Amino acid sequence: MVTLKSHREIEKLRVSNSIVAEILAVLKEEIRPGINTLKLDRRAENLTKGFKAKPAFKGYRGFPYTICASVNNQVVHGFPTSAPLKEGDILSIDFGVFFDGYYGDAAITVPVGKVSEEVSHLLRVTEESLYLGIKQARYGNRLSDISHAIQSHVEANAYSVVRKFVGHGIGKDLHEDPQIPNYGKPGFGIRLQPGMVLAIEPMVNMGGYDVETLEDGWTAVTKDGSLSAHFEHSVVITETEPEILSKRDGSVKW
Ligand code: MG
Repeated sequence: MVTLKSHREIEKLRVSNSIVAEILAVLKEEIRPGINTLKLDRRAENLTKGFKAKPAFKGYRGFPYTICASVNNQVVHGFPTSAPLKEGDILSIDFGVFFDGYYGDAAITVPVGKVSEEVSHLLRVTEESLYLGIKQARYGNRLSDISHAIQSHVEANAYSVVRKFVGHGIGKDLHEDPQIPNYGKPGFGIRLQPGMVLAIEPMVNMGGYDVETLEDGWTAVTKDGSLSAHFEHSVVITETEPEILSKRDGSVKW
């Protein structure tokens, strides 16, 4: 069931998602060759505690860490490790918090040091596809208008959209209805209404869209070994323009 959030609930979601945005911004600054993702994970957990929030992913269906740290051909749900990041890697961080009854969720992919033009193009197109999807998150549109906008941009750039993982509603639960595929024909699915809060999260592969899960039961990697990027924002549908909740707006205090 897709729920419509009240103004009071949206205000709470604004706070939870601002916390996510602030912490992701700190982590982003710390990503450089030589740092390891376990260190970023501890940093994220400490910062989360500093906001009196809880990590949303740690313990979720047994996921053991605060952040999902997915390097290069890892698509999502990667485990933080002690292996140092190398110049030219890309790191996707997916991160969420629970605060005052509501969840926040967002993801970024960050170049480690200097990456090739080919790799930065993948990151740019993936982030652009997120914003094109968000642009369709409008009152009166249908859900798959978001999906279609993402897929069109990705495939116009000869990349592929991961099918296996999808975006989702967010609120009192981390994953609520509806599921939001990042591909599909326009004009299908539920009609979007003010008060719906959606976590839109394209995962884009440089090669084919097939993924497989490693033996740890979590880490998803591209089947063909190609690089993968991931960007996510939590967004509320309004009477007019969609509002991105998981951005830094100064509404949370350190
Ligand atoms: Mg998500």
